[in-house]
Amino acid sequence: MTGRNNGVALVSGAGSGIGRATAKRFAADGAQVVVVDIDVEGGQETVSDIEATGGEATFVRADVTDENDIEEMVAVAVDSYGGLDYAFNNAGIEGTEAPASEQSMSNWEQVIDTNLKGVFLSMREEIPVLMENGGGAIVNTASIAGLRGFRNLSPYVASKHGVVGLTRTAAAGFSGDGVRVNAVCPGVIETPMVARSREENPEAIEATVAATPADRLGQPEEIAAAATWLCSGDASFVTGESLVVDGGFTVE
Ligand code: NAD
Repeated sequence: MTGRNNGVALVSGAGSGIGRATAKRFAADGAQVVVVDIDVEGGQETVSDIEATGGEATFVRADVTDENDIEEMVAVAVDSYGGLDYAFNNAGIEGTEAPASEQSMSNWEQVIDTNLKGVFLSMREEIPVLMENGGGAIVNTASIAGLRGFRNLSPYVASKHGVVGLTRTAAAGFSGDGVRVNAVCPGVIETPMVARSREENPEAIEATVAATPADRLGQPEEIAAAATWLCSGDASFVTGESLVVDGGFTVE
């Protein structure tokens, strides 16, 4: 244990990929972790992984599009561990790929509700609790799709641009109250989400690797390292930032 983030951390989308790696990293750093996911099996597996290495975690099944579930997930942090110090609002979906002219309303609503409304509802519930605790840090998962366009992904790109905007707005509003708010913008990271995209369109993933100066995909642990750093005291003057972690994909 490094003791870098030894408080109470809530991580959504923690039943898989980036969220699971970050929940495990928080626990390894000494935090008590509230593991949130809509996927019960995945969430419970993350808790077992944490407990197997001597860490402390509790699973809450919550759908981040549902206000009542969001209230419940934050209440569990308070009831189980006495408060909240860090929140990683990370649950997200990629939706289906199609040109904007052919996007369905159901895909638009599902992606915007999960990726954008989910982050808004989460922060709305988390911020007062962080303030009560004397301050804390929030990290929202945006994406390189929050900073540039990708054809055929209009709802996803719009949702992630929205996450960057919500992050800046919350940072402007609450940093003076001791709540720092940042985003992390991953490039293409090897998670089940990307495995699904690879099945659909293997050439696109290969093209991404070819266009990445680091010449590989990222690992979930590399996003976990960035997110937990943003939450740590080492990032005490960092707020409103959207930190790109993409092996250089967006630099040229
Ligand atoms: P993943 O599919 O492996 O994990 C996402 C998790 O979120 C799953 O466990 C899923 O059950 C959960 N989830 C989905 N909808 C939910 C809801 N409504 N309520 C609660 N939980 C829900 O994906 P990942 O790659 O780990 O993605 C995590 C985040 O990172 C997402 O926001 C994604 O957009 C973002 N991201 C991923 C990549 C990448 O290349 N993998 C790149 C940039 C951004």
